[in-house]
Amino acid sequence: MNIIFGPIHSRRFGKSLGVDLSPNRKQCNFDCLYCELDSVKTMNSYEDVVSVKQITFALKTALKEHSDIDFITLTANGEPTLYPHLSKLIDEINSFKGKTKTLILSNAANIDNPQVQDALLKIDEVKLSLDCATQKCLQKLDRSHQGIKVESIKAGMLEFKNRYNGPLIIEILIVKTLNDSKEEIAKLNEYLLKLQPTRIDISTIDRPPAYAVKPLSYEELHTISQLFDSSLPVYIASRKKVESKPSSYSDDEILQTLSKRPLSPDDITILFDKKSQKRLESLIEKSKINTIDTNGVSFYKKA
Ligand code: SF4
Repeated sequence: MNIIFGPIHSRRFGKSLGVDLSPNRKQCNFDCLYCELDSVKTMNSYEDVVSVKQITFALKTALKEHSDIDFITLTANGEPTLYPHLSKLIDEINSFKGKTKTLILSNAANIDNPQVQDALLKIDEVKLSLDCATQKCLQKLDRSHQGIKVESIKAGMLEFKNRYNGPLIIEILIVKTLNDSKEEIAKLNEYLLKLQPTRIDISTIDRPPAYAVKPLSYEELHTISQLFDSSLPVYIASRKKVESKPSSYSDDEILQTLSKRPLSPDDITILFDKKSQKRLESLIEKSKINTIDTNGVSFYKKA
């Protein structure tokens, strides 16, 4: 039973240790078409439960070995908020984690549950998925367990956002023909303008999925990112399939592009050729472009 995995290094979270709350098998209330785990019947509560004691023992042992961990990431072979002792587990982790931060990655299906919200309030950073703004899309792409309603997820997220002081990141995984239509993105945009999360990460399929569904190219993700309101901090988090085709941008083109959509340094590396990157640097020096930070990811924006 592998409860702990990692450490994993990332620019965003530094060195993190993963904690799998469902280490023996997949237990999830979604059966996403893009899931990298094998498809299994959805459920609304764990059938196979590992004790808080077993998890904390494994985590303490790993932390002794890796004393320089920046983040403890709660996740699962499935959905971590289905773990029945989540609140107690977080209390335990908070009692010994010291300065190490906690993060949870959830599909948000339970975010309308007040007890789940109460548990998540005790975590330093929360990342929730929101692939769809409509019920039809949720059922088709995320293949949610019976009774899960996208409107309850959206209402629950708004409620949680009002209660939570930490960074709330929304992740949207985009799959060809399933949630990449202008209509679906417009509905997501409308909702996200109300939610005002700290950051919105958009990505696509990076690893072999359970079903035969297709990823988007970086260019397609970039086009989709431009459909969101320019005030929303949308970050293209998918990097695996990037085939870099940098182009030349004049000063005016740089300013015009950044007025429509703030771009991250990663986007700049992919989209701008070397000379255009120099032009960008000089525009920053002339204060025509500002840098904004959204919880560890910076963006360039027209001043
Ligand atoms: S929510 Fe995550 S674990 Fe569950 S089916 Fe979707 S991708 Fe897989």
